[in-house]
Amino acid sequence: MLEIGEFGIVSVQTGTFRLDGGAMFGVVPKVLWASHEDVDDQNRILMATRTLLAVSRDRKHVILVDTGTGTKWEGKEAERFAITYDGDAIGRALSSQFGLTVDDVTDIVVTHLHFDHNGGLTDWSGEPGGDTRLCYPNARHWLHRDQWQHAHVPSLKDRASFLEQDFDILESQAEMSFVEGQSPDAPWPGVRFFVSNGHTPGQLLPIFSDDTRSLMFTGDAFPTSSHLRLAWVMAYDLEPLKTIAEKQRILRRCHDEGMALAFPHDHRLGGAEIDFAGTKPFVARTLAL
Ligand SMILES: [Zn+2]
Repeated sequence: MLEIGEFGIVSVQTGTFRLDGGAMFGVVPKVLWASHEDVDDQNRILMATRTLLAVSRDRKHVILVDTGTGTKWEGKEAERFAITYDGDAIGRALSSQFGLTVDDVTDIVVTHLHFDHNGGLTDWSGEPGGDTRLCYPNARHWLHRDQWQHAHVPSLKDRASFLEQDFDILESQAEMSFVEGQSPDAPWPGVRFFVSNGHTPGQLLPIFSDDTRSLMFTGDAFPTSSHLRLAWVMAYDLEPLKTIAEKQRILRRCHDEGMALAFPHDHRLGGAEIDFAGTKPFVARTLAL
């Protein structure tokens, strides 16, 4: 567990899945990325789904950042992405690390509504493919308004990443708070939001800080530590040049302030301190998250 300010923070691996390696690295040729990745015979690379769990000392704030693919998968779709998901992983981490249960979750930061980040907000209440229910009914769900609006009218390019069943009951059944603008306040002590728009509009990325250190959950700005290289951006990004500019801003903070990064999809590590050889960023130390 990492302690920053009021919060104890852990990275919980909830599952794994596989996406096409070419799509994950955009214009970067396979000969460069393949040696860093676990590639299968369909050219898919192994990725984790990770939830950042942050609990304040007084237990007033029990925060999840993202919830992974969730369990609403069967047959061909599950196979296409080789999805595994442990529906009890977050509950076990809450109980073993903090003595809490999923009913104690007070807040969820929904970085964005792509299925691999927040399919886990809901599960099926009965028949597969039928009605859904909230997995964290007591939690307030935090989303950027631009992402909420975009998820309802995605482009032809990214509409396969949004599954309506993941979020159609949020508005009617969940406590929701929408944040707006490029520098929105976060309501917890020592936490700020960074808004990223290159991957998808209004991706909401929390930064936990105290006087000595800070940690950012990178969302799909840096899905894995392999994406530390500036030009290694995903073909999924709607505006890749914007992603590169955002990565530069984030890495500058790693360089100038020693900010560490927590990755959503790295199956090798939850987070890392970043160092630089000249201008090239690399993992200096794996965090004990
Ligand atoms: Zn995404």
